[in-house]
Amino acid sequence: MIKPTDQQTFLLEVEGLGVSFDGFKAVDDFNFYMDRGQVHVIIGPNGAGKTTVLDLICGRTKATSGNIRFNGKEIRGMNEHNIVRLGVGRKFQNPSIYEGLTVLENLELSHPKGRGVFSCMVFRRTEDIQKRIEEVAEEIGLLEFLETEASILSHGQKQWLEIGMLLMQDSDLVMLDEPVAGMSVRERAETVNLIKKISKNRSIVVIEHDMEFVKQIADRVTVMHLGKVIAEGSMEHVQQNPKVIEVYIGH
Ligand code: ADP
Ligand code: MG
Repeated sequence: MIKPTDQQTFLLEVEGLGVSFDGFKAVDDFNFYMDRGQVHVIIGPNGAGKTTVLDLICGRTKATSGNIRFNGKEIRGMNEHNIVRLGVGRKFQNPSIYEGLTVLENLELSHPKGRGVFSCMVFRRTEDIQKRIEEVAEEIGLLEFLETEASILSHGQKQWLEIGMLLMQDSDLVMLDEPVAGMSVRERAETVNLIKKISKNRSIVVIEHDMEFVKQIADRVTVMHLGKVIAEGSMEHVQQNPKVIEVYIGH
């Protein structure tokens, strides 16, 4: 909403962001500032434009107006691959893992020096990469499953694997779209711990509907409605906002 006044540079600064689909403004004059080491949650009713905001930041959808600065660099208009390379990782609503590969192979593929299209001929799993795979597998609770084929993991484990794939890229900003949808109560609790752990050295944007989950992870909450920000602040703060209660929490 309001740009905080101090002159520090934010990890992510989004200003006046907008996109129209056939004249319909899905995101409209959207402003968003994010510090390092923060968990920032975006909530709002279905169709509010939350997923579209992530699509715009990661370059999947082209904005029609506004600016997106990441680490002080304008990334609006850059292609998705370059945005990933700068350190922006994004997880989609449905896990996009390779079901036929093992946990280890999925993680390996996500390493910047891993088996890419061009590096496959010369690829050798170096000790560094092996070590990184094990660290990440430990973080996401899948160390014992390194040789397990991804297809037989539980729904929650698949979601964690995809988060692990983002961690392999060592992104400064990780964006998660509804990471606990379909998870059991226990898996949700473990995801809270995972997000807290991984936010220590990077920033996380989470879109989520589960208010209990949001309360446990959010440093800051932005509420969206009809493509716009209608409230922002701590969970306690936005929960008391009459407009938020009317359009979202009340339902
Ligand atoms: P949310 O994630 O908050 O539920 P979305 O960002 O998915 O909302 O969608 C916001 C609005 O934009 C919806 O009305 C949706 O139908 C529309 N929309 C999203 N992406 C597209 C697209 N590629 N083309 C046309 N309309 C879209
Ligand atoms: Mg969505």
